[in-house]
Amino acid sequence: MVDLKEENDGFKRHKSSFFQAIGTPTRNVMSDHVEFAMDLVNNYDWQGTPKAKPFRNMLLTPVALRKNKGILDYLKELKGEGVIDNIMFDSGGFQVLTGSLKSRGISNLDDLQKHNEELYNEYDWADIYIMPDHPPNLSDVYHDGYKRKINNTIEASLKFFECLKPEIQGKVAPVFHLRKDQDIDYMYNSYKPMLDKSKFASYSASCLTHPGSPRQLRGAALTMLNELQKVLKKKGVGIHCLGISSPGSVFILHYLGIRTFDASTPIIGAGLGKIYFPYIGGISCSLLRDNEDDNMTEEKLRWAREVTNHRCPFCEDLSRLKKESNVEGIPGYLYRRMHNFCMLDQISWTHRDLEVGLLEKYGNAQFKIFSTVYKNQQVSFF
Ligand SMILES: [Zn+2]
Repeated sequence: MVDLKEENDGFKRHKSSFFQAIGTPTRNVMSDHVEFAMDLVNNYDWQGTPKAKPFRNMLLTPVALRKNKGILDYLKELKGEGVIDNIMFDSGGFQVLTGSLKSRGISNLDDLQKHNEELYNEYDWADIYIMPDHPPNLSDVYHDGYKRKINNTIEASLKFFECLKPEIQGKVAPVFHLRKDQDIDYMYNSYKPMLDKSKFASYSASCLTHPGSPRQLRGAALTMLNELQKVLKKKGVGIHCLGISSPGSVFILHYLGIRTFDASTPIIGAGLGKIYFPYIGGISCSLLRDNEDDNMTEEKLRWAREVTNHRCPFCEDLSRLKKESNVEGIPGYLYRRMHNFCMLDQISWTHRDLEVGLLEKYGNAQFKIFSTVYKNQQVSFF
């Protein structure tokens, strides 16, 4: 199991960490971005704030890379150079569900296993390997479909596990889908051969996110995650929370003692013009919306950096962050993406304790969920 680094730089480092989903870039695109970003990061005056490492933890789905497998070798090189600390491979179960791998001849878990078996065994230097799953959707929660999909997930994971090399078996993370407390014991007992070896699991809240707002964890999902965490902690098993989407949820998950998270929001949001700050959430940077209240202004940027104690070389100049900007040939999305990467890296380990006051003041939606889950409870997970 990956041992996330504790650095002696004078700042508190949380044991949890944020994995950045990087989509399916080509090697050339990725190396351009790394060169651009690391140059600025290394030459920046961090003014007493902790230096961010934007590529510290990377998550990608090897089966979705089509012909761009060169990126895998490149990531290995970056790991050797210390630009990346940890790499997580996702199985592509979600992509099977959405049908986006059909053009590659992958339309079910059996197809997925054949492809992943080869990929996982060949690229054996990643730190965590997410096992395949068949994610239930919200309507399955109230029907037999839920149990069937849980059983499909367990069966496919165990079958796949047997095909992996011993050194990879020690790094797998089987996926928990939970509807009720009893599912925890059922899935844990089914996964026991894997959890005895790897001591790491993942949790998918895909069917329990809010129907009208899929980017926010629902109270029910958090309550279930809390129960799972309590059971697995006793067994010495850590949890990765898959696709949390909203960076604001990080603080609540920290509080629960969750070990790692991931989200595609930093990339997707950056493409849509947004940059994120802890507790405050996403703010749009668009030239076309200068007069609107929810748009980023120089004053708002200064305030957001100040109130969250955030510094990074990518959000120094608003004109570079604008959606339509192309200063010195560098598109605005690259500055926004790298700011989002730095911000998420920093909040993973500078805000050890949930600052409930800030959450109440700025993260209204998350605060409501937090209050629901912990109403009348004084809970400490550390
Ligand atoms: Zn920044």
